[in-house]
Amino acid sequence: MLPVVTPVGVASAPAMPWDRRAPERGGPPSAWALLPEDLAALGCPGRPGHVFARLQRTRTWTPDRLFLSREIRAWLERETDLSLPAILESHPSADGSTRLVLGLSDGHRIEAVHMPRNPGDPRITFCVSSQVGCALGCTFCATGAMGIVRNLTAGEIVGQVLAVMRDLGPDRGEYLYLVFMGMGEPLHNLDHVHRAIRVLCHPEGMLLSPWRITVSTAGLVSGLEKLARMEPRPQLAVSLNATTDAARSATMPVNRAWNLERLRQALDAWQLKRHERFIFEYVLLAGVNDTLEDADRLAAWLGDLRRRHNVNLIPMNEHEHAPYREPSEERLQAFARRLHEHGCFITVRRSRGRDVQGACGQLVRRAEATMRSAKPAPRARPRSA
Ligand code: SAH
Ligand code: SF4
Repeated sequence: MLPVVTPVGVASAPAMPWDRRAPERGGPPSAWALLPEDLAALGCPGRPGHVFARLQRTRTWTPDRLFLSREIRAWLERETDLSLPAILESHPSADGSTRLVLGLSDGHRIEAVHMPRNPGDPRITFCVSSQVGCALGCTFCATGAMGIVRNLTAGEIVGQVLAVMRDLGPDRGEYLYLVFMGMGEPLHNLDHVHRAIRVLCHPEGMLLSPWRITVSTAGLVSGLEKLARMEPRPQLAVSLNATTDAARSATMPVNRAWNLERLRQALDAWQLKRHERFIFEYVLLAGVNDTLEDADRLAAWLGDLRRRHNVNLIPMNEHEHAPYREPSEERLQAFARRLHEHGCFITVRRSRGRDVQGACGQLVRRAEATMRSAKPAPRARPRSA
């Protein structure tokens, strides 16, 4: 065997928490994430397309019973995991959205938010989790403060969608808008997330459209470059949240591996299709990233993406695990105005479900949290207003 030689003068980069695969649950494959071809390969009796459709359409099962022949049910019970995330808590907010706490079969808990649009509009946006906790450790985020516990399986991701659609609607996939903006970094769990997307978009199942699925990333460029080449390819949202590398690295450690310039290069290589645009999320932290110079730099960084994007400005949702504050209304408006003057498309997102802790960055299971200190890196400390 050849000896391992470390090149002289090349410092090996320290391993980052997201370089390691997050722990997996293990156990038999989840029935809810098996495609027809997987069912066939595993020897499922009956017609695989029929079994798949029965599992994926929420009217053909109840939590206690699958409407399938005894033989097929016995096979599924023997060879697969049929457990679904259970809705343990449901917290309706005054704004019509509902924060849900879901229990997984190994006892972990995750959260999701169900957000109907306007009254009379059948469309629902459903914000799902991709991991229990998160390895990326953004200093403003409650999930980041938990650290990573494990990846969700594709079956648990599909199961979140099916369990919630069954109880709260919509009853048809065409009305569902799915956003991976709950707990976790979806690109740190790309295999399971992408399999879940394939299952949910399958014509014999829920038939979601990849146009109506948004995967949000903090900028894990290795995953972003893989997802760029995958089919079906969902819409991409990027959480930017700072406009200089120093500020971004202080609040989002992932920026130390892939800085703003590298992230921008990866977006150039993504090649938007005609109808697509990038979504950028920008969490405004009072006194940290909310100056007019930040707005100028943000517009400059967008450069020629300015016609193909939308910037979602999200005032910081305050919580006990981070010291940041939301900016004043005047500051928020001035920031938005400046971006608008630069030709940017902006939406101010006052996160839904704030009164029930269901808003962005507030999703956290305290009971199992391995809390890191909430103290920010020195550069990230908010200045007093
Ligand atoms: N890991 C992915 C998706 C989950 S986080 C990502 O970071 O994009 C979903 C969104 O919540 C991100 O845009 C993130 O910037 C935002 N967020 C996190 N903490 C927040 C907070 N305290 N207030 C407002 N938004 C927050
Ligand atoms: Fe993870 Fe996203 Fe929270 Fe950052 S903002 S810690 S990437 S969930």
